[in-house]
Amino acid sequence: MHTLTTALAQINTEARALFGQGKVADYIPALAQVPPRQFGMAVALVDGSTFHVGDAHTPFSLQSITKLFTFVLALKAIGEDLWKRVGREPSGAAFNSMVQLETEHGIPRNPFINAGALVITDILTTRYAHLDYALLGALRRLTDDPDLSWNAAVAKSERDTAHRNMAMAYFMKSHGNFANAPELVLDNYCRQCATEMNCAQLAQATMFLANAGRDLGRDGCPDEQFLSPDEARRVNALLLTCGAYDAAGDFAYRIGLPVKTGVGGGIVAIAPGVGTVAVWAPELDAKGNSVLGAFALERLVKLTGWNHT
Ligand code: GLN
Repeated sequence: MHTLTTALAQINTEARALFGQGKVADYIPALAQVPPRQFGMAVALVDGSTFHVGDAHTPFSLQSITKLFTFVLALKAIGEDLWKRVGREPSGAAFNSMVQLETEHGIPRNPFINAGALVITDILTTRYAHLDYALLGALRRLTDDPDLSWNAAVAKSERDTAHRNMAMAYFMKSHGNFANAPELVLDNYCRQCATEMNCAQLAQATMFLANAGRDLGRDGCPDEQFLSPDEARRVNALLLTCGAYDAAGDFAYRIGLPVKTGVGGGIVAIAPGVGTVAVWAPELDAKGNSVLGAFALERLVKLTGWNHT
């Protein structure tokens, strides 16, 4: 049986041999500047131990991984009422697709595609006068990092080019499924997507999902029951079915764990009762998921046996 340290070292070597197979996201101009050949991975176990390899301490743009955190905040804020505004079925369509919005009367399929995340940000914009600080406050507590923030240049770059997301917001507003001004919600959405973390922080920040809703306090901070065990189980179910957009089936087949991916090249995976894994490599496949990230997770579940599906 591999120890985790040996497994991560082996995966690091194997993954780096595959550099050059994908392309960094360039539809958000600031993300096109990220050097492609980087790879980091971090594991945090529910017993508090942590492991990391490669560029695990380099901050990267969370992008759609923030959809996981905003969804959790909305669930905490308004509970099951949010299902009146967004569905919970896999979309089978690209993360930024708008085609289902028309046939489904402005109700997005799930909270982890762009349209669904925009509705979630709309809900949070109504709920919090200072959403940035509500979200950052939660993320700072979960990572124990008071300096955690968003990258202003990335946020501006996405906001300047957010025509497609803006179109979806207006379309949903035409169906009565958007309470606030799309411009305001887009400002919030682009800032939240530009939040930066490194792999070690991301593994720590999602620990509550592996640990029956309970965050592990560190550095003198107490434990916090961030979600109920039942809510954590439900978030994991959604991550398994919807966390990788139109590659969710492929991810379930290859990795078999709840995941959330983002076009910054990050992926976080949850092994309930065991721990969390964050991996980052900016080169993406055609569906906007990290090529080496998916490879590394597939190797890790094989070496550790963490896939129980
Ligand atoms: N901010 C990105 C967007 O809205 C997030 C997409 C993603 O990470 N898949 O297009």
